[in-house]
Amino acid sequence: MIKYSAEIKKIMSNQHQKLLQKIIKDSPDPKLIKKAYEFAEKAHKGQKRKSGEDYIIHPLYTAFYLCEMKLSPNTVAAGLLHDVVDDTPITQEEIKKEFGKDIAFLVQGISKLGKIKYRGKERYIENLRKVFFAMAKDIRVILIKLCDRLHNLETLKYLPTEKAKRIALETLEIYAPISFRLGIRNLTGRLEDAAFPWAYPFEYQQLVKQVKDKYEQRRKYLDKVKPIVAKRLRKERILPIEIHYRSKRYWSLYKKLQRYDQDLNKIYDLVALRIIVKDIKDCYKTIGIIHKLWKPLPRRIKDYIASPKPNGYRSLHTTVFCMNGKITEFQIKTPQMHKEAEYGIAAHWYYSEQKGLKAYIRRLITKPPEKDLKWIKQLGEYQEKTRDFSSDKYLESLKIDFFSNRIFVFTPQGDVIDLPEGATPIDFAYAIHTEVGNLCQQARVDGKIASLNYPLQNGNLVEIITNKNRKPSRDWLKFVKTNLARYRIKSSFKEEIKIEKKQIISPVPLPSPKKIAKIKSPKITKIFLAGETGMQTNLAKCCSPQIGDKIIGYITQNSGATIHRAGCKNLKRLQKKWPQKVIEASWKSKK
Ligand code: MN
Repeated sequence: MIKYSAEIKKIMSNQHQKLLQKIIKDSPDPKLIKKAYEFAEKAHKGQKRKSGEDYIIHPLYTAFYLCEMKLSPNTVAAGLLHDVVDDTPITQEEIKKEFGKDIAFLVQGISKLGKIKYRGKERYIENLRKVFFAMAKDIRVILIKLCDRLHNLETLKYLPTEKAKRIALETLEIYAPISFRLGIRNLTGRLEDAAFPWAYPFEYQQLVKQVKDKYEQRRKYLDKVKPIVAKRLRKERILPIEIHYRSKRYWSLYKKLQRYDQDLNKIYDLVALRIIVKDIKDCYKTIGIIHKLWKPLPRRIKDYIASPKPNGYRSLHTTVFCMNGKITEFQIKTPQMHKEAEYGIAAHWYYSEQKGLKAYIRRLITKPPEKDLKWIKQLGEYQEKTRDFSSDKYLESLKIDFFSNRIFVFTPQGDVIDLPEGATPIDFAYAIHTEVGNLCQQARVDGKIASLNYPLQNGNLVEIITNKNRKPSRDWLKFVKTNLARYRIKSSFKEEIKIEKKQIISPVPLPSPKKIAKIKSPKITKIFLAGETGMQTNLAKCCSPQIGDKIIGYITQNSGATIHRAGCKNLKRLQKKWPQKVIEASWKSKK
């Protein structure tokens, strides 16, 4: 049992105690959690939430939700400390001194911008950019942000209605989709259902009125189906680990009803029966047994084990004419699949939580699969590319490129590429690789030649035929859907102009890049790395960036950071290999 100072003990309300005890009990590093708690508690002392509670209740809940996802002690500690830099006199340096680099990085990532410079919408956008940037470097930042958001949503009733609505809408449009794309279904559902009543109060009440009894009826019905299934499975020598029902969450039902003419009778998975069995072999056996018991509906058998959903979801789904002819959905999966479905990307850290050196080493080498992280990296890079966008344009483009309704198409190799609705083969080509986009000559969709502006459909198999003499066409800009493709097409024109200029205007050889760097970069000029100065910087010789260029830093072994132009090809190569070494750079302080 952990001992607290008399002072801390007195301050802690019962609720604090309970939450903290739960977090500590679950943590492999209770000392760290206790230290972070006491630090945060002291820093926020005297501050109140809008609810009138002590402020510390908020970081405590944030940490508790992180702990529920079984995230590492450092992440949970950062959850406890996440508002300390924003809302108290404590500085980033102090956090670093007390808790080390890793925790300080996480707290820095989640902290808002400094107090000045940006206002209103601009400030909001800059904060978003900052979180995405930090998230691209370390996914734990967004996990903390999502848990922070969840507790804020749960206490929206203490805020003015307008503000509550804004936060709820932002959650539905940006944060919940991020959580969804990370595959964290549990958290996604909780975020959405906490935001729904505030974002669309009227629609929410209507829906609840309409379905409340239906849910109850379905649960009662499934209570009768459950023993029949269990008995039959046992007879066929399958021991189910668990059979339970899951009720569709309100927001997800609301969205689905919009696609089904608001007809509740067409929704078969209002409450579905979930069967968890020990391995994949048993999953297939179980679905066979269900089909022997009850006749399946045509085209409703879904094998997400053989072809997982793009966010990694695996399971067998089937809908049958169940007892008394009632249409009922079954979901069959293994415990592993179930855990992954609930925790998504967080599950990759979940497995490496044991104590000791072995676990430590495993933690270093356990990383989510590269493909899961690709879009997060793109989201990070995107922040640089959209620097010049106005707030409205940025938000709009962000929603289209990352969070609008997505379609999922396949490469001939079977890789899944996800794109916004209405995307074309050109968007697909650029999503694969800049070169594939630039050299795209022809597209084949499901084996047939299709025009380059053909709107792709979910599930299409897309093949791009390239031609090394091909160049991007300005016409493409008229129909591409993603900003990524638009950006790359435009930059290919810029490259071309540069080459032409070089050929025409420079009859004498250009000075060496080294010389340019020296001439163009006088010593008063400071370069800021991630908003800070003081680190040694060198201008890259390959692209010799000049004042005013968009630049990116690359951390080197012994000599600080090398500064490249944002579009530099060498940098891109390095970035691909060692993305963690790339750092935001600018000529002027952004604070
Ligand atoms: Mn917070």
